[in-house]
Amino acid sequence: MPELPEIETLRRMLDERLRAAPVAKAGPAHVATLKTFDPALATLEGRRFAGAKRRGKHLLFPTEDGELVLHVHLMSAGRLRFHEPGEKQPKSPAFKLMLEDGGALVLTEGGPKKRAKVGLYRPEAIEAELGHLGPEANELDAEQLGEILAGDSRRLHAMLRDQRVLTGIGRAWVNEILHRARLSPYALSTELDSEETARLGEAIREVLAEGLDLRERGVPDKKAYRIHNHLGEPCFVCGTPIARVDFEEHTIFYCPECQTGGRVLKDRRLSRLLR
Ligand SMILES: [Zn+2]
Repeated sequence: MPELPEIETLRRMLDERLRAAPVAKAGPAHVATLKTFDPALATLEGRRFAGAKRRGKHLLFPTEDGELVLHVHLMSAGRLRFHEPGEKQPKSPAFKLMLEDGGALVLTEGGPKKRAKVGLYRPEAIEAELGHLGPEANELDAEQLGEILAGDSRRLHAMLRDQRVLTGIGRAWVNEILHRARLSPYALSTELDSEETARLGEAIREVLAEGLDLRERGVPDKKAYRIHNHLGEPCFVCGTPIARVDFEEHTIFYCPECQTGGRVLKDRRLSRLLR
């Protein structure tokens, strides 16, 4: 489940490498993965990339001539790797792109469901496609965050994951951020005071920056996350066992001592029925 730290790590790894040589062959792409047909993938051939860019959790590879942009969104299970010439490559990639120097950008996706997306766009078309995205989560100042939170009354966990509100945070890092901010995942965005808003803004910036640093050093999920997926393990701040609650289609991890004043959160749908 790549989020801002993971996608930015990928971007940094690919930025230089993709400029090294023009595209020799773009494709093949799995029919469910490729989201566009015009312009055709083959129009990339012979062109050189101007590096790698990122918007939220989306990767963008513009061509040097400014005419095309290759878009990749990994969703939850997509994996993107660059293979140097001679390196073993997966047999049936969801998408593959070869450079003239023999290097290859390869997208794979585990499981039967193909959710990762690849598309080739004109610059104005990809801008429209991603136009719904909110500001980059790691670039918000306290004032901007305050305005965003005041704009809609929603539970923090859901709001911070909404890419239209702010972009880059998903279901793993949101647990780390809310723990750092010492805020309940169920807290309402409009009920935060200015001190809590400032704390949340700081937590977003710090946690995402630390996450990026960890990922650039190759730290795996189990160590990169300290709250997410650590059910029952002691909170690294207070020692209370990490708790879990289901909310909408997501699983939330949190520390009852640090975040909810000792209260255990109830499954929202269930508690609603029992009320
Ligand atoms: Zn704790």
